[in-house]
Amino acid sequence: MNVESFNLDHRTVAAPYVRLADTKVLPGGDVITKYDVRFCQPNVDHLEMPSLHSLEHLMAEHSRNHSDRVIDISPMGCQTGFYVILQGEWEYDAVLDLVQATLEDVLEATEVPAANVVQCGWAASHTLSGAQAVARDFLAKRGEWAQVSA
Ligand SMILES: [Zn+2]
Repeated sequence: MNVESFNLDHRTVAAPYVRLADTKVLPGGDVITKYDVRFCQPNVDHLEMPSLHSLEHLMAEHSRNHSDRVIDISPMGCQTGFYVILQGEWEYDAVLDLVQATLEDVLEATEVPAANVVQCGWAASHTLSGAQAVARDFLAKRGEWAQVSA
């Protein structure tokens, strides 16, 4: 299939993990890389929407404190994790460090950025404490992030 992750057997992965999903070389020679940051075991567990949504806002804002090469961090529709899209090729460990630093910021946050009707499309669907609980659990399993397959 056209989409890299559609060719991934989701029964074989072992969440939590961070996986290089795709590398694209643009016509000008610039490189874009896409990582799956999987919080939940597919088809076993998922994040509730307010936690996922707040984590999206928090990671979008705080990741950029650590790198100017973040293009996008967006939630998977299956609510089991996020796509992290980065400019250029990265050392794998540098990606893990970026995710770790970002989630550590999430734990320190006192509010969800842009959780209001001006800046967000569903401002009622947020939970800082829920996002922080998810971040805390994921960080506690930092040693497992590099192992993608069961
Ligand atoms: Zn929003």
